[in-house]
Amino acid sequence: MDFETRAIHVGQAPDPLTGAVTVPIYATSTFRQTAVGQHQGYEYSRTGNPTRHALETCLASLEGAAHGFAFASGMAAAATVTELLAPGDRVLAVSDVYGGTHRLFTQVLQPRGHPIDTIGCEQVAGELADRLTGVRLLWLESPTNPLLAVVDIAHAARAAHAAGAMVVVDNTFATPYLQRPLELGADVVLHSTTKYLGGHSDVVGGFLATSDPQRAERIGFLQNALGAVAGPFDAWLVLRGLKTLAVRMRQHCANAREVVGLLQRHPAVARVLYPGLADHPGHQIAARQMLDFGAMASFLAHSEAAALRIAQRTRVFTLAESLGGVESLIEHPARMTHASTASSSHPVPPTLLRLSVGLEASSDLVADLEQALADEAPGRTGG
Ligand SMILES: *Cc1c(COP(=O)(O)O)cnc(C)c1O
Repeated sequence: MDFETRAIHVGQAPDPLTGAVTVPIYATSTFRQTAVGQHQGYEYSRTGNPTRHALETCLASLEGAAHGFAFASGMAAAATVTELLAPGDRVLAVSDVYGGTHRLFTQVLQPRGHPIDTIGCEQVAGELADRLTGVRLLWLESPTNPLLAVVDIAHAARAAHAAGAMVVVDNTFATPYLQRPLELGADVVLHSTTKYLGGHSDVVGGFLATSDPQRAERIGFLQNALGAVAGPFDAWLVLRGLKTLAVRMRQHCANAREVVGLLQRHPAVARVLYPGLADHPGHQIAARQMLDFGAMASFLAHSEAAALRIAQRTRVFTLAESLGGVESLIEHPARMTHASTASSSHPVPPTLLRLSVGLEASSDLVADLEQALADEAPGRTGG
């Protein structure tokens, strides 16, 4: 079955008891046993819950994975997968990662004795093999947040496996509709389902998928042992989001193309960062490993003051953190999502604005940015 069909049907057979075509929200903490140890597959909802199981089955299928695990947040998924490390194991991560991932690495894992190294996305092609000595975990994001750099996942996975490292790819920006890292050689895929997979800015959740049976067994154990699971209502919201993922992503990408076109020709914009642009350094790789280029786009204003003014002038784009919902968002990474990178060797530029292009009419999105940018062309203000 094709992607769109699996998103609607895998793990979601009509309820055998009532015929309900939608998976019920199994709001129960525990399940009856008819004799000690005899049950219908579920004992306790931290360990397993039918609504969560439906989500885990469906999203694993969309990633082309044999096993999936739903968590209470993307960071819960990230914290759980890093528990696969043994004491002292070394981590190498691309330098431009989600701010919360950076915080997990530098303020939780590093103090606990895991050396954390970073590599610039531009260095992955040439230098990765040399940087992998002693590394147990290679952490990739592509496209990256918020700079939209692209990493060649197949190349990175080959180099990591040759060095004996496991590869985790945070696929939140791309979604399995646009990119499937396991097919490119990654070992584990991570999602913040809060973003495109939920898709409606109404739930926080996370996900891990893998096809390796040993890793799956250990992740399943850790999911239950650490307990940061998705609740049944949250799982249901994400499962509902999956059904429309393909159509939403197609329109997200189409709207992003219109918005990027406006940004490119606007004098108030110093530079546009979007992998769909032919002059983007990762364009060829993105064209090869992604179905389309996504709906996250960042741009540099001419000054931080101009960036801050633009961010508070939009009316259709809402000034807010997060991304991937039906509504368009604008944010200033240096002061919002990525404030924790300020003291790092790779702080995000203060003139940077990040857009999550939503599903409103693209004409309204373009007009909104036009009015927000209008007074910011060089020479038109003193700022
Ligand atoms: C939001 C996000 C996360 C963290 O997910 P939460 O659901 O907020 O915990 C991780 N990676 C990326 C790329 C994200 O955008």
